[in-house]
Amino acid sequence: MYFVEVILPLSLAKTFTYSVSEAEFLFIKKGMRVAVPFGKSKIYTALVIEIHNNKPTLYEAKEIHQILDDFPVVTEFQIAHWIWIADYYMCAIGDVYRGAMPSGLLLESETLITKKSDSFVDESLLSDDEYLVYEALQQQSSLKILDITAILNKKNIFPVIQKLIDKNILVLQEEVQESYKPKLVRYVRLHSKYDTNEGLKDLLEVLKSANKQKEIVLNYFQLSASEKKPITVKRLVEAAQSSPAIVKALVDKEIFEEYFLQEDRINFSGKGREDDLQLSNAQQFAFESVKASFKQKAVCLLQGVTSSGKTEIYIKLIEEYLATGKQVLYLLPEIALTTQLVSRLRAHFGNKVAVFHSKYNNNERIEVWNQVLQNADKAQIVIGARSALFLPFQDLGFIIIDEEHEQTFKQSDPAPRYHARDAAIVLANSHQAKVLLGSATPSIETFFNAKSDKYGYVEITERFGNVMMPEIALVDLKDKYFRKKMNGHFSDTLIEEITTALTLGEQVILFQNRRGYSPIIECITCGHVPHCEQCDVSLTYHKHKNQLRCHYCGYSMANPTLCHACSSIDLTTKGFGTEQIEQELIAIFPNAKIGRMDQDTTRGKFGFEKIIDSFKNREFDILVGTQMLAKGLDFDNVNLVGIMNADNMLYHPDFRAFERSFQMMTQVAGRAGRSEKRGKVIIQTYNPNHNTIQQVTNTDYNGMYKEQLYDRQIYKYPPYFRIIKLTLKQRDFDKLKEGSMWLYNVLSQNLNLPVLGPEEPVISRIRNEYIRNIIIKIPQNTPIGSTKKTIQKILNSFEAVAQYRAIRVTTNVDFY
Ligand code: ADP
Ligand code: ZN
Ligand code: ZN
Repeated sequence: MYFVEVILPLSLAKTFTYSVSEAEFLFIKKGMRVAVPFGKSKIYTALVIEIHNNKPTLYEAKEIHQILDDFPVVTEFQIAHWIWIADYYMCAIGDVYRGAMPSGLLLESETLITKKSDSFVDESLLSDDEYLVYEALQQQSSLKILDITAILNKKNIFPVIQKLIDKNILVLQEEVQESYKPKLVRYVRLHSKYDTNEGLKDLLEVLKSANKQKEIVLNYFQLSASEKKPITVKRLVEAAQSSPAIVKALVDKEIFEEYFLQEDRINFSGKGREDDLQLSNAQQFAFESVKASFKQKAVCLLQGVTSSGKTEIYIKLIEEYLATGKQVLYLLPEIALTTQLVSRLRAHFGNKVAVFHSKYNNNERIEVWNQVLQNADKAQIVIGARSALFLPFQDLGFIIIDEEHEQTFKQSDPAPRYHARDAAIVLANSHQAKVLLGSATPSIETFFNAKSDKYGYVEITERFGNVMMPEIALVDLKDKYFRKKMNGHFSDTLIEEITTALTLGEQVILFQNRRGYSPIIECITCGHVPHCEQCDVSLTYHKHKNQLRCHYCGYSMANPTLCHACSSIDLTTKGFGTEQIEQELIAIFPNAKIGRMDQDTTRGKFGFEKIIDSFKNREFDILVGTQMLAKGLDFDNVNLVGIMNADNMLYHPDFRAFERSFQMMTQVAGRAGRSEKRGKVIIQTYNPNHNTIQQVTNTDYNGMYKEQLYDRQIYKYPPYFRIIKLTLKQRDFDKLKEGSMWLYNVLSQNLNLPVLGPEEPVISRIRNEYIRNIIIKIPQNTPIGSTKKTIQKILNSFEAVAQYRAIRVTTNVDFY
């Protein structure tokens, strides 16, 4: 009796047993994929995690269909890590497996629908149903027909899918098929019959009257002598300044033979930089201190002010690990930042840098996967966003987590809802690797861990090249409005500073943490504000399209000309977003070139990178943007940064609101004055005396930390308590209310821990589903494993209650 234990790429917590033949049993290794039947008639790609002789007791083991690999494509490190993730983040192991593998390695018999990766989508042209499918495919790389039926909540979904295919937005993948096709390159070599001296003479004879062909053959000899590597047709044609047709003629004459080799798509040809990087004294000291810290501890926090040159320290450290032959993983909060970083790293490490990019297509991602698996030179350094954590590292030596405070490291949907920083530390532990967390504004949790000696701590307090920290000036909006010194949303102070900067040929960054033109349209007569039909939020006004749009579900309607409640035509806008700032700028500075960077302008493939590049190339003078601006960008001609309104960040109903506001403002401010000249930051606010704003102004991270830590302790939040957030969703308001109350009661009776809720979130309905949250707080010092078991048991019994079956519950451990 021969069996394998497998994980299925489905949201199932269990593993499954399949039977195999003796030959298969001897061939199969842990980490290979097998195609297995599941359910009535479906086939999935399962992952073997155990090979054994134990017949399952509860069911008859089915046979596998076929073995898909010749060798393991998933390492034992990964399997252990994924099991840890499923356990810690309370999700199904199948969810982790599915989320971790490039979907090209997870073929299924069912029809899969995929978004075409390189198509630009004008969302305003989509119907509601089409939008929902499109939106869902932005969260997940592909959907099954069944998923789409559930999303649209109707049976007949083929017309919707057909339309999306017609619009060139979706593609279908059908049947089990190996979708990974390596790209092949055409090479030529001299036919073996001309290998001898004798043969060469013959050859010259044959070519006597064919000058063009002779030219190519001579070039072939030159190239083979000088380059000592296979010669591509392309290279040969270029060198001989000839044409492929003539090469073809030589192949036909059997003088050349052609052959094909696989080329790696993501091929960097750059050479490493020869001249050594010179660290400043402060950098050198930090570099040595990090190394010393790694002798004692596995994790080190590097807190360096903005523009202190953390990247250069990372590079020096990477050099050390490369020398030992180990693999290095470099995690970034935002994949759009890779372009900048890759060119910096390539300058030092040439071809050893691989990028794992969610926007790359399946083939490209599988290529990186295989390189990492083979411990190839080409992928010794892997750069990526959080999902790069799932690659099949063989011998990981060092992980860098840059801008570790960024919340994008936490995946919120779908499961696994993991935090890449924390999961990386666990992964590093199994490889005996070191982890460096870098930030100018560390998360409270990380700083706490550093202060309590769990992590090492290294600080850089000065900017590279004696550049001064920017000067931060506050502008009191209340006072400015009162004294009529405002032009739109611009204070006279800000306008003056922008004018000066433009006169000097410098660029300006303006930060507004909201996209669109203006958040709401309000009726002056009756106060009515148009809301989304499916969500509990007001609609955002987008001037450019003259539309009202929901930022949660994408619903849009034409901008009303009169109030839908009282028919009054006196409508006004309230609040403001990036689009309105841009409009006002055009009016105030008619000669300046203005760019905008927010979700609306960066949608297309590499849209974000394009805007960054044109700003770097000084194609525009002023860049208006949302929080994307706060993510470690390096511009050398920006000396002025303006924060349009600091207040809307501060008043988020979230225990991290002050911490985040501090981080966001400090990071945006850090974009100013990164070359010789001292930069200036103008913060416009109604609350110049707010503690957080004062802390930003005084670069007082420690002050912010102390104040927040105190609050966290009193109100029972991280780092003192771990938070598990349960979110319940259903279309039926009363059922949901009843169900969440039931769950809350059972949890609080059984846990002997603070359980809060069930609360209605600020936005309590999205896409017609009502939402309730329950929050469980677990003190840091209580064992979390047994608590999670109890919670899981309660959730299982909740699922078993018939009248609550339609309620969907998601579990978010260490909710961010
Ligand atoms: P941080 O990530 O700490 O904000 P960066 O690593 O982006 O800072 O460095 C800021 C700027 O200083 C960059 O333009 C970088 O090229 C430059 N820089 C930093 N260290 C050095 C060095 N040792 N030699 C030359 N340039 C450096
Ligand atoms: Zn009205
Ligand atoms: Zn909506």
